[in-house]
This record gives sequence, structure tokens and C-alpha cells, in this order.
Amino acid sequence: MPSPTQELSNQVPDLDHVNLYNSDPALVDGVRREQAAWHEEALTRLGAELGTARTWQLAALANRHPPILHTHDRVGRRIDTVEYHPSWHQLLAMQRQENLQALPWAEPRTGAHVARTAAYYLQAQVESGSLCPITMTFASIPLLQQEPALFAELKDKLYTRIHDPRDLPIADKFSIMIGMGMTEKQGGSDVRSNTTSARPIEGEGRGAAYMLTGHKWFYSVPACDAHLVLARTTKGLSCFFVPRWHPDGRKNAILIQQLKDKLGNRSNASGEVEFEEAYGVMVGEEGRGIPTIIEMANHTRLDCVIGSAGLMRHALMQAMHHARHRSAFGKPLIEQPLMRNVLADLALESEAATLLMLRLARAAESPDDPLEAAWRRILTPAAKFWICKRALAYTGECMEVWGGNGYVETGPMARLYREAPVNSIWEGSGNVMCLDVLRAIERDPEGFELLLQDLAQAESASSGHLKTLVHVLRKAAPDERETFARRFVQQLALTAQCRLMQEHAPAESANAFTASRGDAFCGAVFGALEQSTAFGPILHRAWPD
Ligand SMILES: Cc1cc2nc3c(=O)[nH]c(=O)nc-3n(C[C@H](O)[C@H](O)[C@H](O)COP(=O)(O)OP(=O)(O)OC[C@H]3O[C@@H](n4cnc5c(N)ncnc54)[C@H](O)[C@@H]3O)c2cc1C
Repeated sequence: MPSPTQELSNQVPDLDHVNLYNSDPALVDGVRREQAAWHEEALTRLGAELGTARTWQLAALANRHPPILHTHDRVGRRIDTVEYHPSWHQLLAMQRQENLQALPWAEPRTGAHVARTAAYYLQAQVESGSLCPITMTFASIPLLQQEPALFAELKDKLYTRIHDPRDLPIADKFSIMIGMGMTEKQGGSDVRSNTTSARPIEGEGRGAAYMLTGHKWFYSVPACDAHLVLARTTKGLSCFFVPRWHPDGRKNAILIQQLKDKLGNRSNASGEVEFEEAYGVMVGEEGRGIPTIIEMANHTRLDCVIGSAGLMRHALMQAMHHARHRSAFGKPLIEQPLMRNVLADLALESEAATLLMLRLARAAESPDDPLEAAWRRILTPAAKFWICKRALAYTGECMEVWGGNGYVETGPMARLYREAPVNSIWEGSGNVMCLDVLRAIERDPEGFELLLQDLAQAESASSGHLKTLVHVLRKAAPDERETFARRFVQQLALTAQCRLMQEHAPAESANAFTASRGDAFCGAVFGALEQSTAFGPILHRAWPD
């Protein structure tokens, strides 16, 4: 007989055995609409595999046991090796199995970016740190493809679906990962301040070997088989492929000084490294390092959007699950009118994030189409700013739905909350994203006009807020935009979300979203939707029970 003090009541069972794909109508609709239905079988399998307590336990373990740096071996030789918990490698193996690091490059076909985005979104609901090397590898491929000789050596190892955790020279491995090294102590946003220098060993320019001297202040996944690194030559900043192992068989001279003790993303190692004449091969044109590496940014930034949208979706499911099982004041939380308002508002936000993410993935499919290019170039940084920022407040609100149980590390909510800020900071922090949106508009005013026309197209179905939003965007004076860039970019992202909700979400969700996001009294906190909102259908749409 359990003692009376051990009897449990009104505690919520763990969420388990939920198919993360099938239970997400906005995602399923989007995958079909955006021509990725051919990937549904894989997504359904993946959704089932990821939506289990067993997989979430892997994620919890990988974060509870962060990587350990070993700088030297037993006899004092430098080894600069990072030891990860086995769960990290298991997570990476799962992501690799889905080809998240290469799908649209390895198997190009219509809808491939959308298919990969949907799979990444499912993975992002489980664990974020292990997705970092997947993102960097994915973004590096189009850049490496521009270097035919180097790419011929790497291609099969980049495209394989098998994870190879061994710390060996690239030639001895069947699978590799690529990282990125830009940020230095004196500046991350302003990479023009980089001081790391590169001296030619033999020959000069693209494809030639150099020796790098300097440091990087954030060098995530130092265990990657190579990093793309910015360093200065006589002609300015250039981009280098810097392998972990020197071609002569020794470890390359990349000394990992220490690993960051981070707020979140704890499963992933971010190192502070020094290059002591490290070997690197120039990629791209000499002196064009920034444009070369920025090429990757459209991909890494979209992954930040997907990652944050995934985080929001998982936090929403956990919040709804809790509210369905926990009672207070005589009825389940999900039936309390004020809680319904909070959850419905969260559900709208999540659907709008998912729609914008999928729309940007579609834009990646046709980079040469002027409208698609405008969506991609102007709205990717806008979405990176907006959705990553929303994830901060969002995960906090979902944690609060769990009450005190949300605040402890034995449950999932604390980790989701700690995970939220990183996407907003790395790959361009909030202000930098807003300035990037302005730059993109300045460079392509015709593209911006095309985008505005496209955003206005759904006007007929909207309640009028959309029309006002598009009007405000068109009228914003370019010379005043910098100071008000956050306001402007927020409006742009919201207008795009309203437009997509009007086009693709059920009318009650679209109208509630458009009305509330145009209402000054809504938005500061979740849960201030109007009395007339169709709470029931919105909640049912978010996660049918
Ligand atoms: C967990 C983690 C992992 C990372 N991994 C990597 C990695 O693998 N490789 C890598 O290269 N970097 C990495 N970074 C670094 C990251 O990309 C930088 O931290 C980021 O780009 C910001 O640079 P910074 O830290 O130097 O801040 P700063 O550049 O000093 O910026 C500080 C603040 O000022 C704002 N700001 C900057 N310029 C302006 C302006 N003109 N107007 C208004 N505001 C401005 C920024 O938005 C930011 O809020 C990582 C960071 C984190 C947190």
C-alpha cells in the first residue's frame, strides 16, 4: 500500500507517443500546399519517432551532460578534443538519417527545401544544440560547391545520411560536418573588425593554402571536421576552409582554449580558439570573404526561424497537454475562459510562425524569381528578427501555463525557455537583422514593391488591418527607417504573417490573428484576444484532441 503522502492527484502525465507531424494541421496543410507531399511518409515516420518520451529523454540527457574539453592527453600532448554525451551523437545520427544537412542539395526536386524545413521543424521541437552543426553544414554546401576540386573530395561525405563521430582526418572519414568561425573578441556583428591574419604558403588566392594566425571567440562545434573562417590577407578579409586535421596527418594548429559556459544550447560546445599558424585553403575570391560567407546567411537565418518556430510549437503542445490534464478551481485549465484566451493566442502565434517559415522555405526553391527573391532576401532577416524575439516571450508564457512545475529542471519547460534566446543572438542579433532588412530594401526597391503588392493581395479577405499595414510600410520614409527599424521590421513581418494567415488558416484563426495584431492592447502579453474570438475552433486546430 502506498503511504497516504505518496498518493498523487492532479499531476500531469508525461507527454508521450504523439506524432509531431500528424498532430499539426498547419504543418500538414503547408507541406501539401508547398509541393512537398512526396515527403509525407518520411515526415509521418519521423513525427512518430520524435514524439516519444524516450527521444525527449535523449535531449534532456544531452543538455544535462554538456560537452567536456580535453586539451591534452595523458602524456601532455595537445589533443584539443571535445567529448560529447552519447545522446548528442544519437540525436545527430537521427538528424543525419533525415539528411537535414543536405537534402535539397543532394536530392534536388520541387518542394525539397520545404520538405527539409518540415523535418528540421520536427527535430527542433526535440533538441536545438545538435541542430547547430547540421545548419552550418547545410549552409556551407552551396558555398563549397563553388570550389569544384575541394567539393569533389567532400561531396559524398557531406551528403551521406550516416553520422561519423570519429575525430580523424577528413580522408579517413565517411561523413563530415562543417562549422563557421567569424566572431572575434572585439566584434561579432561588425566582422570587418576581424584581425585574424592569413599568410600564403604556396601560391595565392582562391584554392591556395595559407597559414592562419589569430583567434575566434565563438567557434561552435569545434569537433566539426572543418570550419569556414574569415581571416585577413593583404587584399582584405577572405574566407578559408580550415580542417581539424592538417593534410600532413597532424592535428591542425587550432587550440581550443576553453568551452563557453552557456545559458542554453548546453548540449552543443562553443569554443574559444586560437590559430597558431593553422592550415587553411582559400574559398571564394580573395578580399571577398564577407560576401562569400554572407551567402550562407540566408540559410542559417532561415534555420533560426525554423528552430524558433519548432521551439514554439513544442512549448505550445506541452502547455496544451498540461492544461488538458491539470484542474484548478473545479475544472480543467483548458476549460477556464482566461486560460483558453492565453492558449488560443499562443496557438495563433505558432500557426503564423509556421506559415511564415514554410513560405520562406518555398522562396528558397526559386531564388531567380524576383518576387521569391524579395521574400527570401527581405523577409528572411525580418522573420529571423520577429519570430526569434517572439519565442522569448512565448516559451515564458508556456512555462507559466505549467505553473511552478514549469520552472524546474525535471520537466521540459525550463529547457525550452533557456533555449529561446540563442536564435535571436547568433547569426545576426535583432538590431543587425533589422538593419539588414533596410539594406536589402535599399538594394532592391523594385523587389520591395513587388513584395508589398504581393502582401496586399489578400486584402479582400482581411478585416482592413492588412490594408492599413501595407499602406504604413509603403509610406515609411527611408531616411527615418534606421531609428525606427524595429518598428518597421515588426510591421513588415506581421503584415506577412497576416497575409499568410488570411490565405491559409481557417477564417476564425485568420481574423483573430489580424484583429489582435493590429490592436494596440493586444500583443504586449499573450491572452488578450477579444471576447468574440472563436477559442474552441482555434484550440482544436492547434492540436485536435
Ligand atoms: C551560443 C552561441 C554560439 C555561437 N556560435 C558562433 C559560431 O559558431 N561562429 C561564429 O562566428 N559566431 C558564433 N556566435 C557569435 C554570434 O554570432 C555573435 O555573438 C553575434 O553575431 C553578435 O556579435 P557580438 O557578440 O560580438 O555582439 P556585438 O556585435 O558587440 O553586438 C552587441 C549588440 O549590439 C547590436 N548592434 C550591433 N551593431 C549595431 C548597430 N549598427 N546598430 C544598432 N545595434 C547594433 C547587436 O544587435 C547586439 O545586440 C555564437 C554566439 C552564441 C551565443
